[in-house]
Parts: sequence; structure tokens; C-alpha cells
Amino acid sequence: LATAIRTDYHGQQFRSKLEAKWAMVLDELQVVWEYEPEARYTQHGGYLPDFYLPRMKGGLWLEIKPYDAFEKGEDPRWPEFAMQRDQPLVVAYGLSDPYQLPDAYGEQPGVCIKCFPDGAIDQGYLLTCCLVCGSVGFEFEGRGARACSNRLSCYGRPDADRGHNPDDGRIIKALVAARAAFCGQIPGSTVRTLPDVVVERLAEALAAETAMGASASKWLDSQHLSGGDREAVVAAWGRLID
Ligand SMILES: [Zn+2]
Repeated sequence: LATAIRTDYHGQQFRSKLEAKWAMVLDELQVVWEYEPEARYTQHGGYLPDFYLPRMKGGLWLEIKPYDAFEKGEDPRWPEFAMQRDQPLVVAYGLSDPYQLPDAYGEQPGVCIKCFPDGAIDQGYLLTCCLVCGSVGFEFEGRGARACSNRLSCYGRPDADRGHNPDDGRIIKALVAARAAFCGQIPGSTVRTLPDVVVERLAEALAAETAMGASASKWLDSQHLSGGDREAVVAAWGRLID
């Protein structure tokens, strides 16, 4: 696992950059959140979920895991917490790539599992929102109608169930902002100014630095690389070290 880097955002210190990015996504989508508000004892030890979303359908808990934690399987404390609290707990593995959104059945960043208060666990949940009112939720296959707080008003029937919408413009915008945040980039800036030959030279220098154990992001910061230039150097570096 990559080392978690404590990250400040909105006056809060998060345990990892990924958690701070999720807080930013929630803010962009106007979802009210609390960070680590409640720990509980379970049969499998103490457990402190990352977020509580008090206004999401009567309250929902959110655990953030790096994508590569997926293969470690489910933590028995998750369903027990959901049962104790009588509220669902969603576990999000990584964050969706806004340019290549996951499908609910794939093992890709952004695919979530949901633990229900009755102890059941289900897979294939995606961040989504109502096509009409924009109510946000973590719903099976990204069904936006299920996230809606007033289906009769938005879909003309109270039992509307589909409206797959994980690629809503509002979701994409939030993901793009979070993707660019906390890594020395200016959000929304993807302008590339450096020619290929310079990008290659920088990538070789970065490979030499990281081979000695230096932090890639610190080195990129020291070179004042941002936006599209930074992305190009990282991509060229990735090809070098593969
Ligand atoms: Zn709605």
C-alpha cells in the first residue's frame, strides 16, 4: 500500500489525500459531511468510520479505502457497525476517474460496496445523483432515481427505480476538481507548454530521483510543474519505470 499523506482541507486534517479528495467531492456536490464523528466497539475491535453524511437518506456512513485494498476483502467491523447504528455504511475503494467512469460490475476505482443494517453486504454501488433534483447518493449501478428524495416530483411516480446517472455533469465536475486537488495542480488547468524533448528529460530526472527514494510529488513541486506539463511528465515517467 502507498503511504498515506496527512492532508489539510477546510480546516480539517485528513489521514490521507484520498480522504481529502472525497471531502472535496462531497463539498462540490453540496453533500453535508462530518469527519470521524463516532467510534464504536465491535466484536472485531474498535472501529471509526471516516465520514458521516447526516442528510443522505436518514444518515449514511462512508469508509474510504485505497483502490488496492479491494483485494483484502471485507472488514467484519463494517457490517457490524451498520447493524449497531441501524444505518447503511458504504465503502468506497479509490475515486472514480472522471474521464473513464467505472461500470458497477468492474473492479475499478470508484466502485463501492454497501453494508446494510440487516447485515447484508452488496457490491456494485456508484456515486450518482437524481437526474432532475440532483440529490446525491451511493446507489446500485449508479441509479439516480434511487438517490432522489422526491421521486414523485422528479419522475412522476414514487417507485421510479432506474435513471442510471453516475456520469451526470455535476458528478464529473466534482471528480475533475478533486482529481486536480492536493497534488500541486491548479484545478481545471490542463494546459501543456513543454515540448516532448523537455518532458522526456524531466521524466528521466524524475526517474533518477525516485530511484534514490525521493518523493515524486515533492520533486515535481520543486520543478514548479503543474497542470498539463505535470501530467505529461508523470505519464512519461510512468512509461520509463514500467
Ligand atoms: Zn429528484
